[in-house]
Amino acid sequence: MTLTPHRSSQELAARLGTNALVCEVVASRPLSSSVHEIVLGGSAVALAGVPGNDVMIRLAAGPDSFVRRRYSVRDVDTERDHLTLWVSTAHTGPGSTWVQNAALGDPVDVVGPRGKIALSPVADWHLFAGDVTGLAAFYRMAQSIKAPGRAIFIVETNASDDALTAHFDEGIGVTGIFVDRDGRAGSDPTGLLRGLAAFALPPDEGHAYLFGEFAVTKVLREALLDRGLDDTVISRKAFWRAGRSNGERGEPDKDES
Ligand SMILES: Cc1cc2nc3c(=O)[nH]c(=O)nc-3n(C[C@H](O)[C@H](O)[C@H](O)COP(=O)(O)OP(=O)(O)OC[C@H]3O[C@@H](n4cnc5c(N)ncnc54)[C@H](O)[C@@H]3O)c2cc1C
Repeated sequence: MTLTPHRSSQELAARLGTNALVCEVVASRPLSSSVHEIVLGGSAVALAGVPGNDVMIRLAAGPDSFVRRRYSVRDVDTERDHLTLWVSTAHTGPGSTWVQNAALGDPVDVVGPRGKIALSPVADWHLFAGDVTGLAAFYRMAQSIKAPGRAIFIVETNASDDALTAHFDEGIGVTGIFVDRDGRAGSDPTGLLRGLAAFALPPDEGHAYLFGEFAVTKVLREALLDRGLDDTVISRKAFWRAGRSNGERGEPDKDES
């Protein structure tokens, strides 16, 4: 049976020039204290885009209300037509509630692919920095690096089992620094700044991708500018904002106040 996406999803997709499709949940399991993996099947490949892209899920926020939440695609299985998402469950919100209660066979209303940040085709090394919400995008992007490229991950974890790993092609240089949040607030950049300070930026061409909390990614960007990286090689995207829910369309509040 082919299900039709909600009319608002069809209209949104038409406006954005992308697809609105209905997938179904084919697998779901916690991977760590703060990351839950969900696999969607059916129409998945058409939604997955390129490494760095995400999908928008329409999900219930209450008995009669719905919101959209954006999740980066972690992996695509073109043969089975599956896509995998890694969803943070370290907080309470409609997205984290949805993923933890998803049952096999549940229909999922998805708009995608979305997103503008892709892997730099010219960089020799790629620095991925942020928190566990960035891991899916970081790993999918890094798995598309061609040898002899280099990937550096500086990721803040909420618990030691959040230090999830991935496999990379031979010939790719990989450095991983996991920083324990150690109870610090979501908007506190101290841990990631310390991780960044511990790493000497290679001399050749690099590109930095900063995905995570609004204030933290902002401070990381400033720290990289101070270290001599050019603004044009820093791609920052705030995925969430401490103390504020993302909006109905899945974007964090960008208000500077
Ligand atoms: C382009 C894009 C790609 C994204 N990709 C991913 C992804 O691959 N995986 C992923 O997990 N998230 C990802 N996010 C972030 C995710 O969409 C948001 O965290 C989302 O708001 C969570 O929705 P929610 O309904 O659970 O919580 P919300 O209703 O947004 O927030 C409820 C409360 O929880 C807090 N909160 C929200 N997220 C977190 C968090 N991670 N840690 C601690 N507190 C939090 C908020 O500050 C708020 O107080 C992405 C966001 C964008 C914009």
